[in-house]
Amino acid sequence: MTRYVITPNETPSLAIHGDDARFPLRRVFCVGRNYSEHAREMGHDPDREPPFFFMKPADAVVPAEGVIAYPPLTADLHHEVELVVAIGKGGVDIAPEDALAHIWGYGLGIDLTRRDLQAQAKKASRPWEWAKAFDESAPCTALQPVSAVGHPVSGRIWLKVNGEQRQVGDLADQIWSVIEVISHASKSVALKAGDLIFTGTPAGVGALQPGDVVTAGIDGLAELSFTLGQG
Ligand code: MN
Repeated sequence: MTRYVITPNETPSLAIHGDDARFPLRRVFCVGRNYSEHAREMGHDPDREPPFFFMKPADAVVPAEGVIAYPPLTADLHHEVELVVAIGKGGVDIAPEDALAHIWGYGLGIDLTRRDLQAQAKKASRPWEWAKAFDESAPCTALQPVSAVGHPVSGRIWLKVNGEQRQVGDLADQIWSVIEVISHASKSVALKAGDLIFTGTPAGVGALQPGDVVTAGIDGLAELSFTLGQG
């Protein structure tokens, strides 16, 4: 048995809908600009870009309930509601026709973003981590296994703040499908069981204030509700 000089951290994990067992997390990959209207609202031409990825640490994933911390260093914290894919079987250079077999299940997550820090990073050609990979930056629902929900390829994805509609789109409007995202990502890194992929957000991103109540859903898959802390 391995002896460690400090106590190892607990493996980050997500709850599973209808099961006491948990899904152990390894890494979190996020797709940038995967809905045309959102790409345009961020000032980009969605037709000219291959999919690109950034990451969050696995322990940035927290249950999307209760109170989520309003992070430091920002005055422009944005919500991005996203379909989350949980990888159950790893692979390298996965062919599109094989991609679905690598999925364990699906969830609904929020890619919280310090937009002001992201804008500064873009301007200075610096990495995005401080904008994207902060503590509690990836609230996520319990996962639904493929055996329960199949592979959702369409359905309304939406987010409200204090009951007011902010984001709405349809999974069918993703520029790069879940199949294509898995295939692309696995050409760059070895995907492994426990990896999550946040698959991008529809249009309507905007700022959150301390104390705001965020509700979101994907029809037929999951809903969430949490309150932002006071910062
Ligand atoms: Mn995002």
